[in-house]
Amino acid sequence: MPRLAIDGGTPVREDLLPYGRQWICDVDVDAVVKVLRSEWLTTGPNVAKFEDAFAKRVGANCAVAVNSGTAALHTAVFASGINPGDEVIVPVMTFAASANCVRYQGGTVVFADVRPDTLNLDPACVEAAITSHTRAIITVDYTGQPSDLDEINTIADRHNLIVIEDGCHALGATYRNRSVGCLADMTTFSLHPVKHITTGEGGIITTDSPDLAKLMRVFRNHGITSGHRQRESDRSWFYEMEHLGFNYRLTDFQCALGQSQLERLDSNLARRREIASRYRHAFDSIPEIAPLGELPDRQSAWHLYVIRLDLERLQVDRAKIYRALRAENIGVNVHYIPVPWHPYYLRLGYAKGQWPVAEAAYERLLTLPMFPTMQDKDINDVIAAVDKVVHAYRL
Ligand SMILES: *Cc1c(COP(=O)(O)O)cnc(C)c1O
Repeated sequence: MPRLAIDGGTPVREDLLPYGRQWICDVDVDAVVKVLRSEWLTTGPNVAKFEDAFAKRVGANCAVAVNSGTAALHTAVFASGINPGDEVIVPVMTFAASANCVRYQGGTVVFADVRPDTLNLDPACVEAAITSHTRAIITVDYTGQPSDLDEINTIADRHNLIVIEDGCHALGATYRNRSVGCLADMTTFSLHPVKHITTGEGGIITTDSPDLAKLMRVFRNHGITSGHRQRESDRSWFYEMEHLGFNYRLTDFQCALGQSQLERLDSNLARRREIASRYRHAFDSIPEIAPLGELPDRQSAWHLYVIRLDLERLQVDRAKIYRALRAENIGVNVHYIPVPWHPYYLRLGYAKGQWPVAEAAYERLLTLPMFPTMQDKDINDVIAAVDKVVHAYRL
């Protein structure tokens, strides 16, 4: 048996394979350069063009571009009318921004547990978390697999709640033959380089409601009710600040990059599906490794490929497996530390141990590399390294 790299053996590969990476082509560069040479660097004609193309792609009426996925979440929470005293239900198994956005508006985060198979928000836990102060539900499509939107929307309708879908993992995913982006009152996406399409930093919110879209456009521009270009064309200096907004605008050249990237979304998704299928097939014969459950009525966008380690069959814990795979030059990662475990939330009074499914899963999670420009050799390296490390630590 070959010696593990962590014990001084030869690593499976020479250079580190990251868990995610952007995909930039010459057409993207040309699109950005063209805007850099034009009149408008920030809010110009490419913002609306990108928003329209994005809305069309996900089957929503409107899209509002902002300068990060986090800004998208904040903007959606603002548009939901969340104020101090209001409660918003958020899954524990997500990135901190899914909960932080509630705090930005002074709302209270009520963390809910997830389903053991998909690690997506469990509708039964949502139901149990509702009080007379609940105003909204933020559901996250963990790893790219859509959460239980029909059940969540039904609960929301019954209690008159707004549903925000954090679709940052799920651009291009489908749920019961409909695209993520038109399943909730508002859906947020991130355009960070590890996500499906990138603008460097960036985010976008989709909605079917023109009123919500209008309010979100005001919020991203300091809460001011007319834009600079509109005032120029109206030859008017007058404007009013209606709300305490932010500068969350996305630049025109970033929107040109986003448009160009969006055109490759389908081939991006196809490659991710191919990689997932190669992994799934390989791990069929490794009993210590369990991929997440895949539900038949929805198609994941495969932002992440997450495996669960069967620690009862291994001599070591997740930390050791993580370090061993890193030593083999496989850029594994962990998504996510349960959000209420972070010091900020512990200081607010949240205590560990209240979300048994997510907290038990966390100890076993490992994210493997997944990005569209991965070569077949890269996939083989990941599988070989997992096989090598698991074999060495098998009980
Ligand atoms: C990436 C991500 C965000 C934040 O997006 P940024 O563009 O980095 O601000 C929010 N929620 C989830 C689930 C994410 O994966």
